[in-house]
Amino acid sequence: MRLVLVGPPGAGKGTQAKFLAYHFKIPHISTGDIFRANVAVKSSLGVKAKNFMDAGDLVPDAVTIAMVRDRLAHHNAKRGYLLDGFPRTVPQAEALTNTVTDLGTQLDAVLELRLDDEEVVRRLSGRRTCHGCGRVWHTELDKPEVEGICDACGGELFQRDDDEPETVRRRLEVYREQTAPLVDYYADAHLLRTIDAYGSVDSVTARGIDALEQAAAT
Ligand code: ADP
Ligand code: AMP
Repeated sequence: MRLVLVGPPGAGKGTQAKFLAYHFKIPHISTGDIFRANVAVKSSLGVKAKNFMDAGDLVPDAVTIAMVRDRLAHHNAKRGYLLDGFPRTVPQAEALTNTVTDLGTQLDAVLELRLDDEEVVRRLSGRRTCHGCGRVWHTELDKPEVEGICDACGGELFQRDDDEPETVRRRLEVYREQTAPLVDYYADAHLLRTIDAYGSVDSVTARGIDALEQAAAT
């Protein structure tokens, strides 16, 4: 399966991607995770991305598209993948269409997670991420057993710099202006499946699996 997740920041894409990728036995490719890892080691890609990320803006298309093209050519993406956080602009979506075609493949489905701004802000304000395995937690909505420590791997949890309220507002604006048009783009391509992202993590996963299995069967 070659899948894409879309939805506003905080909709639960990263959370769901872990479970969906496990279910469909495909790698989870998060452009946000790749950028953060590069920022952490101050690579040239990280240096290019950092200021945009800190401001809640998108990293320029040319940089992002080249990075994803490389990642999709990797051998472990040959039999499928779940893209999380890419594409985020129409030019990125067009580049992805060209890349999958050049590789002799096609996308199977695009899953949209829908959630309103109020719930997005609530989710982002308590988000904590594991330094070890990348698992996402929440201080109230999805707590680990021991505060600040990941149940899955024992790693330490951190709060993302771009989850402060002013940056969250900017990221929501960017989503509306630059990413929301992808919903029509993929509806026109007959790839879009939309699900409600409310409810427990498990119930959203079940909805997602259902929608994607239906898409694969058509
Ligand atoms: P995204 O990748 O779309 O930005 P995340 O997966 O990082 O979103 O989720 C944002 C926050 O919301 C995290 O703290 C996560 O634990 C929490 N969260 C995700 N899904 C749910 C859910 N169904 N119910 C409650 N909290 C959730
Ligand atoms: P995320 O982890 O998906 O919330 O992404 C965090 C940040 O990384 C975003 O706010 C952007 O600055 C940057 N980023 C991630 N994916 C992309 C993308 N596809 N295009 C441009 N910037 C991106």
